[in-house]
Amino acid sequence: MPGFYEFTCPHCKGKSAALDFGYGVMRDDDTTAWLGHPGEHRQIEKHGFTWTQAWLDGRIVLSDMMVCRDCGTIHAVNKLQPPRYVDPMPPQGVRGWTMWATVAVTLGVALYFNSILHGLPVGLVTFVLLEWLKHRRALKQAMSRTAAMRERWAKLLAPTACCGSCGGDRFTPVGNAIDDVADLRCPNCNSRGLSLHLAGIA
Ligand SMILES: [Zn+2]
Ligand SMILES: [Zn+2]
Repeated sequence: MPGFYEFTCPHCKGKSAALDFGYGVMRDDDTTAWLGHPGEHRQIEKHGFTWTQAWLDGRIVLSDMMVCRDCGTIHAVNKLQPPRYVDPMPPQGVRGWTMWATVAVTLGVALYFNSILHGLPVGLVTFVLLEWLKHRRALKQAMSRTAAMRERWAKLLAPTACCGSCGGDRFTPVGNAIDDVADLRCPNCNSRGLSLHLAGIA
């Protein structure tokens, strides 16, 4: 769950607030559409993807609020996430066909040996194997489909890997900056002495 931080600047009296991390999705026109929290699963559908499909394609961008350790500026550092299979979160916690196949195998073996102690380990192995096969197959398909697109997206996001103000690449998460980084710079007036506190959990 993201933390919700508030920044106050003693010089310009500016106040701003940000989540310490959030998600975006790369669209086919090479733009990043940012998703608000909570409700990413539903918002992403407005861009034409399901949450699962976007992760699988490697379209998901993780945006971390980071403080530059060299100059104290606060930045969003965006990283394209590797393709990953995520469960589609269907209603009532049903995990799909691998779960039902596992239940069937577990019961089948338990009935055959007349013992649930035989059924459970076989069921567990079946579940792990089926999930692994399902994920591997989905990933392979997605990787070959999106390799060229991902290369383009990675280039597009590359500049965020270093600090826009000083060019440094030593970042610390905004949550650690409270104790760890003495001199934060204000994003509005660029003077030092910005104060920061955790206002809540989103
Ligand atoms: Zn300021
Ligand atoms: Zn910097």
